[in-house]
Amino acid sequence: MNEHAGEQGRTDDVELDVVVVGAGFAGLYLLHKLRGLGFATTVLEQADDVGGTWYWNRYPGARCDIESIDYSYSFDPELQRTWTWSERYATQPEILRYLGHVADKLDLRRDIRFSTRVASAAWDEAASRWTIRTERGDTLRCRFYVMATGCLSLPKTADVPGIDRFRGATYYTGRWPHEGVDFTGKRVAVIGTGSSGVQSIPLIAEQAAELTVFQRTPNFSRPAFNGPVPREKKAQFDADPAAYREAGRWSPIGVPSEPTMIRTFQVSAEERRAVFEGAWQSGDLLAMGSTFADMGTNPEANETACEFLREKIRSIVRDPETAETLCPKDHYYGTKRPCLDTHYFETFNRPNVRLVDLRRDPIQTITETGITTTASSFAFDAIVFATGFDAMTGPIVAVDVRGHGEQTLARRWTDGPRTYLGLMTTGFPNFFMITGPGSPSVLSNMVVSIEQHVDWLSACLDHMRARKLDVVEPTPTAEAGWVQHVNDAADITLYPRAASWYMGANVPGKPRVFLPYVGGVDRYRKICDEVVSRDYLGFAFDGPGGARCHDGVVQRLQLDVTMVLEMIELLGLPPIETLPVPEARAGMQALATGRPPGPDVGETRDGTLPGAAAPLAHRLYRPSTPGPHPIVVYFHGGGWVLGDLDADDPFCRDLCVRANAVVVSVDYRHAPEARFPAAVDDGFAAVRWIAANATALGGIPGKLAVCGWSAGGNIAAVVCQLARDASGPAIAGQVLVTPVTDSDLTRPSYVENGDGYILTTALMRWFWDHYADPSDRSNPKASPLRAATLSGLPPALVLTCEFDPLRDEGTAYANAMASAGVPVEHLACRGQIHTSLTAVDVILSGDHAREAMGAALRRFFVA
Ligand SMILES: Cc1cc2nc3c(=O)[nH]c(=O)nc-3n(C[C@H](O)[C@H](O)[C@H](O)COP(=O)(O)OP(=O)(O)OC[C@H]3O[C@@H](n4cnc5c(N)ncnc54)[C@H](O)[C@@H]3O)c2cc1C
Repeated sequence: MNEHAGEQGRTDDVELDVVVVGAGFAGLYLLHKLRGLGFATTVLEQADDVGGTWYWNRYPGARCDIESIDYSYSFDPELQRTWTWSERYATQPEILRYLGHVADKLDLRRDIRFSTRVASAAWDEAASRWTIRTERGDTLRCRFYVMATGCLSLPKTADVPGIDRFRGATYYTGRWPHEGVDFTGKRVAVIGTGSSGVQSIPLIAEQAAELTVFQRTPNFSRPAFNGPVPREKKAQFDADPAAYREAGRWSPIGVPSEPTMIRTFQVSAEERRAVFEGAWQSGDLLAMGSTFADMGTNPEANETACEFLREKIRSIVRDPETAETLCPKDHYYGTKRPCLDTHYFETFNRPNVRLVDLRRDPIQTITETGITTTASSFAFDAIVFATGFDAMTGPIVAVDVRGHGEQTLARRWTDGPRTYLGLMTTGFPNFFMITGPGSPSVLSNMVVSIEQHVDWLSACLDHMRARKLDVVEPTPTAEAGWVQHVNDAADITLYPRAASWYMGANVPGKPRVFLPYVGGVDRYRKICDEVVSRDYLGFAFDGPGGARCHDGVVQRLQLDVTMVLEMIELLGLPPIETLPVPEARAGMQALATGRPPGPDVGETRDGTLPGAAAPLAHRLYRPSTPGPHPIVVYFHGGGWVLGDLDADDPFCRDLCVRANAVVVSVDYRHAPEARFPAAVDDGFAAVRWIAANATALGGIPGKLAVCGWSAGGNIAAVVCQLARDASGPAIAGQVLVTPVTDSDLTRPSYVENGDGYILTTALMRWFWDHYADPSDRSNPKASPLRAATLSGLPPALVLTCEFDPLRDEGTAYANAMASAGVPVEHLACRGQIHTSLTAVDVILSGDHAREAMGAALRRFFVA
């Protein structure tokens, strides 16, 4: 125990470099690290000893559910060598012993003030210092203030009426008595079936005379199969601990893993079952979510895992009604923190255990003797609240933190937390959070995330000291960019669909914002490293060393776009424009194999139709809804050189379903075999023929639109001009997806995005060279932007992507049409590249754009 524990109301005259709040995994390592760098550091901790989570959560069955080999510090090789975990998943007492051992070994306690709860922290603008006040009256002054207060350290107060009336004993799993609790012979209630409930219920049931479990939301849980540390895992670790740890640091969750690329419906139902069974038997928390690549994003895929797990529950729990009540049905697997258990579901087969479904039979009140629900009254000797935490933001805003202009953090975060990298927030200089909102934190092995934050922060303070910089704060631009990225990344997953504590949904009145960053520990680490390598991008520094700031947004691409670009880079393919045309075509076809097929449609049919010079192949996609339908004539992309009917097949299916229209994809003649204007002449011939044969195709005469991507967008745009000039056929609307509209390759978007985003300026030049002579390129049939007039064209939806060389010419075309009086909707897609919008089921962040295309087409057809 700490020597300072008894001292009350101290005002320190020493000016500290750093005050850290919290002595859990984070605070302990931070103290060690900062001390090593020579920073005068004091840790304040409300508990009377170290341990954090593992100090407070002493309920029966409390243990980690990330394997202990992984859920432990990696920074000290000697500690790693000399400490041996007795079980695969260590118990709370063992983890607490471990943290106590670390504190002793590194002599940490001498700089920790225990039994000291921080009440407020205020930024002193004039002195560029923080003043920290504690509940027992201490005042400390420091340059940097760090909240290592934990993501799950503030238990949620139970929102049940009558709670103070109960005359029996009440316990909170997150504040469990140190001396333990003996439930022998007692009638016990447990309210809550999250991780703590799932861990404690089986053990309480073994001891108590009667146990009644009150469940609001059933949770997915799998058996931990706990026991000795698995031999294979230990051997892997012992062979090269440093390499093992490094693999964890560069993994998505902070545990060495080999992510799968296989999607759920790529395998048969039997194979799927076998994969799920393997995950079930593994006893590994992360195994189920890692079974298939689309578990976290595809609702149908995830539902197959959910149903597998429900079947398991039904096979374990003997009473069918109880089993059904225990089956989660209101959220996808993984969107709420899943659990690992030891005989949790089996516990409901015991004669002394009953389950109350609070959804059906809510609690009305707690009485002097027990609990009254709408249907029954129960008498209890003890009530256990396993009701969880005010996660992530709770412990931070519980302290009265005031930054610039006395602004409080609680107020600044009224609509949800705003941070840069989960490390800092604007308006609060020199204030850091360890595993704050907007970092991977609770979606990871937290020790790995803690170590990464501590290392980053320590390096930052060291950097500042070396350059005589006293103050650091993120810029509004950097913070807004990061908040946007965190939200964008969450939005492509199923997470925001669940009413979870990740979303703040367990605390009444808390804003519904997805709190952690879903991009993964590895990607996040890379981003933090990039920020440093770009001269602390997005941080403003000041001090005797001068003011400096390299402002900007670190992650502007959508998360899934980045992942695709990384995958392509790994393939190490030669640039397309360096290849002979046949090889380029073969390469494109090879890249398309194995991609998701796109949605099912009612029917597809291949055929030919008359082109300008010779028959053209086409593929017709018919919706599964009863016809006739409007028709969309589609032209694929590929720079007039590459591509065929298969190239954009998933996209055509997607269009067909979203627009509820027949899509006829037409394969025009390609360059260099057939140069300008062969492609557009074929396109126009095809549209004329399709319009004339609409009824035979199952279409509605007069309801025809055109759509095209890239060079196909160029063809669609030109066809609209040709149809206008030829007074027919009537075209109801045009959807131009990142279209080529001009042959000027000097626009800013060609300069900014000329390289690295699949379609490069060099490739665009190669396409033009194959397609059209320089003298032809200003012809409006090649560059529709150069038409004498754009008036009289059909209504248009033009989609452009931020990181696309073609962005500016698409924008120019949309603006020019609008100026000419054409009804135009322009959708500028943030963080997307040229190939994003046709990448169905791959670039999920492009879904809203695809939905906009479907909506625009439906609108064109009713007009
Ligand atoms: C039951 C349980 C099981 C878990 N199992 C796992 C697991 O298996 N794997 C995993 O990765 N994560 C797990 N977690 C998450 C766990 O919280 C982290 O892994 C980790 O322990 C967090 O360490 P920390 O130091 O950041 O915060 P904490 O351990 O929460 O420590 C924060 C400390 O700050 C102190 N504090 C807070 N506010 C103040 C204040 N105002 N003044 C003074 N002191 C203050 C608290 O008293 C606490 O001691 C679990 C959490 C719980 C509750």
